[in-house]
Amino acid sequence: MFDNVGSKVKTLAKVLCWIGIIASVISGLSVWFGGYSNYSSYGGGTFWIGLITVAVGCFASWLGSLATYAIGEAAEFAEMNNAKLNELTEAVKELKQSGLQNTKTSNSSANQTPPAKTYSSNHTGSTWRCPKCGCTNDLTSTYCKDCGTYR
Ligand SMILES: [Zn+2]
Repeated sequence: MFDNVGSKVKTLAKVLCWIGIIASVISGLSVWFGGYSNYSSYGGGTFWIGLITVAVGCFASWLGSLATYAIGEAAEFAEMNNAKLNELTEAVKELKQSGLQNTKTSNSSANQTPPAKTYSSNHTGSTWRCPKCGCTNDLTSTYCKDCGTYR
């Protein structure tokens, strides 16, 4: 429905411009010929009035068509951007889907790996915790450095 709105508006702008120019020329001609016949005493003045009518009419129609043309150009630009945006959103969708698949596969592989080994609270890493005072001692020492309890 809204396909090629920009080009349509641009064509409309050209048509409007020509209609405006033709209309202003016709009105200018009517001022000239009508003026000469009706106000023969202002003959010199009507020539300039007719000329101004044509000039202003042409300029106004050109300006109006220019504005319309600009709108058409903007619409065309927006359409182009929309097309690009659609492409981008499609690409993002595909990326998201592939990303989801990747996370799914990584999750399943994580499930396959055995659970982390649980160490006894008394022997964690390179230290051991004293059962009496809770002091952490080096594995090299057999007695607690704080209270002297045997490990
Ligand atoms: Zn201790």
